[in-house]
Amino acid sequence: MGACAPLDTVGNEPDNGCSTAEDSGVVRTIRLIGAPTDINSSFLRGPAKAPPVIRAALYSDMGNRAAECGLEFGRDYLLEDAGDLPLSEAAGDDERITAAIHAACSAGAVPLVLGGDHAISYPVLQAIHAHHGAVEILHIDAHPDLYHALDGNPRSHASPFARIMEAGLARRLVQVGIRTLNAEQRAQVARFGVEVVPMRDFTPDAVPPFAAPLYVSIDLDGFDPACAPGVSHHEPGGLTTRQVLDVLARIAAPIVGADVVELNPLRDLNGMTAMLAAKLVKELAARMVRNGPVAAPDTRKRAMANCP
Ligand code: MN
Ligand code: MN
Repeated sequence: MGACAPLDTVGNEPDNGCSTAEDSGVVRTIRLIGAPTDINSSFLRGPAKAPPVIRAALYSDMGNRAAECGLEFGRDYLLEDAGDLPLSEAAGDDERITAAIHAACSAGAVPLVLGGDHAISYPVLQAIHAHHGAVEILHIDAHPDLYHALDGNPRSHASPFARIMEAGLARRLVQVGIRTLNAEQRAQVARFGVEVVPMRDFTPDAVPPFAAPLYVSIDLDGFDPACAPGVSHHEPGGLTTRQVLDVLARIAAPIVGADVVELNPLRDLNGMTAMLAAKLVKELAARMVRNGPVAAPDTRKRAMANCP
């Protein structure tokens, strides 16, 4: 799809018809928020250690700051780092997460959350829902995470999408990479009307188009373990890095938030999965910038006319 030319510096855009951020519908600020908790993991601990590891990969001299579309953080848009939330793995953590997302949305920044285990997506989406209403969700994962509860824990990292759907936080849930559906979770798929894109014969164009507001949740175990060894649950037969990048590149809808979860640095090999997570941060952020904010229909139309 068309998009504005990259801004020459943050806050100083070239004369390309995209006169101001407000007029053009350009998103300028993505806010990174670390959620270091793995208290709801069912098998191994480790994802609580992930956010600083992802940041180190993101800012490493090993790579640069460009997404594949050419947008660079710090040049074309602001990647604001809010650091890690002071989570204590006790009551009150969910409120700390929702407050941080609320603060980002209120400031006009798009939250991009670094897990942590996948249980964090539930409080994140509670706050996203408060700002944007029911969203569409693209969920990339080996697992549907739809158990009513696992090991007696309804907040398990295997259950966030059951909580999200029960609470009406999403009007649509599209799952990609799923290859572990058992009878209980098939029943939950039917109950919540989840759209599961089959992993067998997968191609990126099998993923349907989305409408705003869209939220993207990426569990790194959706990738094949050969691409992402640093996860707690190795599930062979998964997505390639290129397939996921192609799925992200096809998203045209404005994105109101995202998370990258389940990196387990204790299982990683030479930082491969950390670097993958950092690349996903760059690609998601650039896609958020290019697709613009959710806007009233007349504003969005004007923005599209300015940026053919
Ligand atoms: Mn998973
Ligand atoms: Mn998951």
